[in-house]
Amino acid sequence: MRDVELYQHLLGVTAPWTVDRVELFVAEQRVDVWVEHPAGTRWSCPECSTELAAYDHAEERSWRHLDSCQFMTFLHARPPRVRCPSHGVLQVALPWAEPRSRFTALFERLAIDVLKACDVTGATRILRISWDEPFGIMERAVARGKAAKGPGVPARIGVDEKAAAKGHTYLTLVTDLDAGTVEYIADERTTASLDGYFEPLSVEQRASISAVAMVMWQPYVNSVLAHLPGASDKIVFDRFHIMREMTKAVDTVRKQEHRAFLREDGDSPLTKTKYLWLFNEAHLPERHAETFAAVQALELKVGRAWAIKEGLRTLWTYRQPAAVRRFFTHWYGWAIRSRLDPVKKVARMIQRHLDGVLRFVKHPITNGVAEGLNSKIMSIKRKAGGFRNAQNFTTAIYFHCGGLDLYPR
Ligand SMILES: [Zn+2]
Repeated sequence: MRDVELYQHLLGVTAPWTVDRVELFVAEQRVDVWVEHPAGTRWSCPECSTELAAYDHAEERSWRHLDSCQFMTFLHARPPRVRCPSHGVLQVALPWAEPRSRFTALFERLAIDVLKACDVTGATRILRISWDEPFGIMERAVARGKAAKGPGVPARIGVDEKAAAKGHTYLTLVTDLDAGTVEYIADERTTASLDGYFEPLSVEQRASISAVAMVMWQPYVNSVLAHLPGASDKIVFDRFHIMREMTKAVDTVRKQEHRAFLREDGDSPLTKTKYLWLFNEAHLPERHAETFAAVQALELKVGRAWAIKEGLRTLWTYRQPAAVRRFFTHWYGWAIRSRLDPVKKVARMIQRHLDGVLRFVKHPITNGVAEGLNSKIMSIKRKAGGFRNAQNFTTAIYFHCGGLDLYPR
């Protein structure tokens, strides 16, 4: 078999294209393959499919293809252009690559699989591409996936904030609670950040969203109220967020009490106990059980704060509106009489948002999906070794967590 014929089969080049010549550069470990088409071939306008004669040819271009054994393989061609009466002079579609890609579709498929499985640096080594190229591949893949998405919107969504970096840079995330995917990402955590999700949706699409699990953050609430019909009956303030706020309050109580001990005695029984108070009762590791019991026996303020936090957990075990309200009234009294300001502050915040907090009885949803995605997003960040710009980070989140069909046809 002649090498041109071999490559014809290896590359899957189809009519009217044929392999014209193959050159091997052993020292550089590369193979270059030129493809041609017969003179007089007729081509379709990429816009309207009208068949036309070639008008001229663009400059020769090359596309990285799958390696031939360990040899990097490049396809070369001069793309024909047609002059359509309605659309002007345009380059025709090439069967092996998408417009503007420097890779063949088969290479992009491989690159997508490799990028899904390992970090960006690893992918550049395996694929022998430059540092910037993975981001181009991911960007095209995400754009393709978004374009292929149907008009359906998730029935139940989660709205969460995510600290994008140390300090106060936030991202707004909208997730599909049932599919476990990231649907939308925006900078900041303003009303406008979330408006950007709802605005492109039609009236029907908005109406099809039946419930929203979200953080107690007024700018988000304003956006949901402004865009979703019947929103006030769809908002569920998320259990994970509420417990996170309570855990922070316990930590603040611990810090204050610890400092007071140090001031008075120069010593504190709370030294090195920070992490003990962050566990919930069910998840406290066995090895800490004894220490924890000993500190609890001291009947400190932090012990009370912790008990109030753990007490709140029971709220979400109720199924009846009357029973859940009765429980909350009881718990709220306990928290308010605690004389622990950080705890009282969170209790009041819950009280102010109570209808939305208790709506879990009607819509039993949580942002647990977003909690899971959060750790996935952190690992995306680590795997990329930092992102040169926020756009690349956003693209990587959609690439890994968007549930999109990323492959070229
Ligand atoms: Zn046309």
